[in-house]
Amino acid sequence: MTTPKKVVLLGATGSIGSSTLRVLRAHSDRLQLVGVAAQSRHNELAAICREFDVSHAVLQDEKAYLRALQAGHFPATTQLSSGTEALTELATLAEADIVLVAVVGVAGLRPTLAAIEAGKDIALANKELLVLGGAHVIKAAKRKGVRLLPTDSEHNAIFQCLQGYPSEQVDKLILTASGGQFRDTPEKELAVVTPEMATKHPNWSMGPKITVDSATMANKGLELIEAHWLFGLEPDHLEVVIHTQSLVHSFVQFIDGSILAQVSPPDMTFAIQHCLLFPERAPSVTPSIDFHKAFSLDFSPPEYAKYPCLQLAYNALRIGDAAPAIFNAANEVAVERFLAKEISYLDIPKLIEYSLTQIVSPLSPSLDQLFQIDTETRDVAQAHNP
Ligand code: NDP
Ligand code: MG
Repeated sequence: MTTPKKVVLLGATGSIGSSTLRVLRAHSDRLQLVGVAAQSRHNELAAICREFDVSHAVLQDEKAYLRALQAGHFPATTQLSSGTEALTELATLAEADIVLVAVVGVAGLRPTLAAIEAGKDIALANKELLVLGGAHVIKAAKRKGVRLLPTDSEHNAIFQCLQGYPSEQVDKLILTASGGQFRDTPEKELAVVTPEMATKHPNWSMGPKITVDSATMANKGLELIEAHWLFGLEPDHLEVVIHTQSLVHSFVQFIDGSILAQVSPPDMTFAIQHCLLFPERAPSVTPSIDFHKAFSLDFSPPEYAKYPCLQLAYNALRIGDAAPAIFNAANEVAVERFLAKEISYLDIPKLIEYSLTQIVSPLSPSLDQLFQIDTETRDVAQAHNP
């Protein structure tokens, strides 16, 4: 028997985190959880440490860490720490083979770069960090020769379809999109969309931020930028198609016109398991598609007028430099302000567009410049009333 792969999971208490735990439970002979991190949900993190006998845990939030110490619910065998440095240390844990990055937002960037420098393979669910620092992440991963395994379902699908084909043979990547919860809602009714309505997805069960991003298709915009970095294709070779069933997770079109697709149920355990066990395969956690039952697949081009965030993401990708980082930061603030009922649903793209016109992007920005632009954009997007 081979020794289990040792896994560090950043963002263990979230939506991707809980799907990952399902994969780990099913494949405990092949995968061992050695480190976990969360922001503040200490009860949930303690329960994970007890169940999986995890040796290292980080609660990013200091107050939550102190509460956890008081509660004493982490096992004595778990080394618990707190803070940004602790997160980076966890990502570089000597015994870890692979780090699954499933924290939300750009907070994941520095720990990911540190893990790459430490020679760890990376399973990447977090897309925001690639949108901000894609150039730096890809360069570091190439230099260190580590695997960057795409866990976002579309990118995982593309990664699977590309196995064995040289990049010169690839013409286009076609990302599928569910169209979100308002795909059948007439454009004029979008003005009255509430946070409660926008946080319910028809096909996927995900965290609130990404669910709103699915409705606006800002998520697909971020994924276009993510695909650009992961697979090295320019915007003219990246397309989006609406596919309401979320069964085909993306397509690769080759130069001879042949198109390959990866198909599985809309459940993140498929992509997560593929990354964690790569290049091995094993039985899935949940049943796959049953062809004994009739079903159909629909595809249609997106209506850009209904999804202005998608067009803004294309524009940002074409501008390059820090424009994708501005798109991402402005979108994050816009979604937070929409969820806090400060701005309306239709204000989300307006705030992104405004931010893109206000911030000046330096050429080939350094990591520090990118973080600075991220902060500046957040201030601008916070202060502006669209
Ligand atoms: P959730 O909000 O459900 O979970 C986020 C997780 O990250 C939680 O464990 C949270 O801890 C933790 N966290 C947040 N900030 C920090 C921080 N600064 N330091 C340490 N831990 C932190 O998000 P999702 O699981 O939905 O998404 C995670 C990432 O994966 C996102 O980048 C998203 O875009 C991407 N993704 C998600 C998909 C999905 O199906 N959900 C699909 C594809 C990609 P706590 O619980 O304590 O707050
Ligand atoms: Mg996705």
